[in-house]
Amino acid sequence: MSQIRILPPILRNKIAAGEVIERPASVVKELIENSIDAGSTDIRIEILYGGKRLMKVSDNGNGMDKEDALLCCERYATSKLIKEEDLFHIKTMGFRGEALPSITSVAKVKLVTAPKGTHQGVSVEIHGGEVKSVKDSPSVGTTVEVRDLFFNTPARKKFLKGHNTETFHIIDRVTEQALAHHEIGFSLVSDNHEIMRIPVASSPRERVMQIYGDEFLGGLIETSRRTPDIIMNCFISKETNVRNSKTYQFIFINKRPIRDPSLTHAVYNAYEGILPPKKHPVFFLFLMINPAIIDVNVHPAKREVRFENKEPVYHFVLSVIRDALPQPVHPAPYGFPSPAVISEALDLEYEPSKSFIPLGNAFIALSGRGGLTLVDQHAAHERILYERFLRGVDLNSHLLLFPKQVQLSHKEYHTILTNSLILKDFGIETDDFGHNTVIVRSLPEVMRDADIRGILADIASCLIEGIAPDRELREALAAKIACHQSVRGKTILNQEEVEQLLSDLQKCLHPDNCPHGRPTKIFLSLEDLKRMFKRT
Ligand code: ADP
Ligand code: MG
Repeated sequence: MSQIRILPPILRNKIAAGEVIERPASVVKELIENSIDAGSTDIRIEILYGGKRLMKVSDNGNGMDKEDALLCCERYATSKLIKEEDLFHIKTMGFRGEALPSITSVAKVKLVTAPKGTHQGVSVEIHGGEVKSVKDSPSVGTTVEVRDLFFNTPARKKFLKGHNTETFHIIDRVTEQALAHHEIGFSLVSDNHEIMRIPVASSPRERVMQIYGDEFLGGLIETSRRTPDIIMNCFISKETNVRNSKTYQFIFINKRPIRDPSLTHAVYNAYEGILPPKKHPVFFLFLMINPAIIDVNVHPAKREVRFENKEPVYHFVLSVIRDALPQPVHPAPYGFPSPAVISEALDLEYEPSKSFIPLGNAFIALSGRGGLTLVDQHAAHERILYERFLRGVDLNSHLLLFPKQVQLSHKEYHTILTNSLILKDFGIETDDFGHNTVIVRSLPEVMRDADIRGILADIASCLIEGIAPDRELREALAAKIACHQSVRGKTILNQEEVEQLLSDLQKCLHPDNCPHGRPTKIFLSLEDLKRMFKRT
């Protein structure tokens, strides 16, 4: 007897849903893409409980008539592909005809839609792939309401994260789509609060500004170039604007947010010689590539693109960015001896009267104790600040005469406000100012001239991404703040400042390493030196 069966449609859709719909944010992304393809200029997203209870996407696009409204939830039902060749000239976000059947198979969905120019709409309800009701319903545009995601696949529901995490994923997807489509207005309402309102913008530049604010944009260089097959418009970090995380790195190809390790590599390659270790550039690459030389049909959620020939695109990105950055100034190489021959000093034994030699704004050389001590002034400063932040003493936090307004991304704003007590421990007092802006009321002395926006963004990303289970949150945050260049201050120190630095370092609990584990000082004994000069 034959063992093989053709699966029934509901089961096929549930299987497809496994690939396309991972979490509420995937539903939101698919619905937004459908609204974009329908020519909408205004897309409104409402969610309840991180989308787990409800996701509702309303648009002012072309809508559907009754026949299409019933057909669109069938597998492989699409208005975007007609013949095979179309697959190689995709201009729409969707084309696989998979999203709606997948969503309706694992949730309770109500679709209300009317073709443009008429008000003769229809309302269709589908629960777990079964049509429950079809009614006439006057409407404009299309609204899709998705309730109780994964209600009939409990194993998948179990994997959903908490309210905040799922909300953050949704904010990320909406932000990406908003960046990709500046000509469309977006709003996001979460648990009845409007957390994003982004009106139609005239350019990607204006869109970046709407989302991240003026100050953020000020840290970026805009550049563009075109060839017959590729156009790139991009915003990249100025040399001095490097970050501790990869939070602000976006690549869009033909208005689709994608991940592409090799193009990301091209960007890092362009920053070679500029980027300090463990630092990251901000980048927004908006690429338009001839659809005939790429394949977008590689990933079910279309997060990847395959190139006919990757190399020219890689070199294009690399050279556009490299040309936009001024010639980097390379610090003189010091030619450090290999660590094997170095013995570390346990104690600085620094006497204030002793002279020191500054080396290239980065190191301080001191003689004494029968050898030479080299201090990495940044690492030393980081250690001192880290311990100060951790203990919460000597911070000298002051109320600001003119409180600072800091505009953040929606996600950062939300995170900073919900964690304001932790920030207070570090001497940073914040208040809500609405519209993704926080008011900073007091700051520790060392942060007086600091890049407070960058610091708040870093703290937020630390809180959002979570920290390694073996680390304490306070430690992680203190290390994040301490490693900010702007907190550590200027690089050229005078005699008095060097003395202060060395004496503060000596008082530290763990003076030998910075919070990231790099040494703060290295001691070369006479013996070490003799060995290095091959005298022994
Ligand atoms: P795809 O987007 O790949 O075509 P979907 O399952 O996402 O597949 O959608 C199926 C079809 O339903 C689309 O091709 C489109 O014709 C129609 N549709 C979906 N959402 C909308 C909307 N918001 N407005 C108008 N038409 C829509
Ligand atoms: Mg679609």
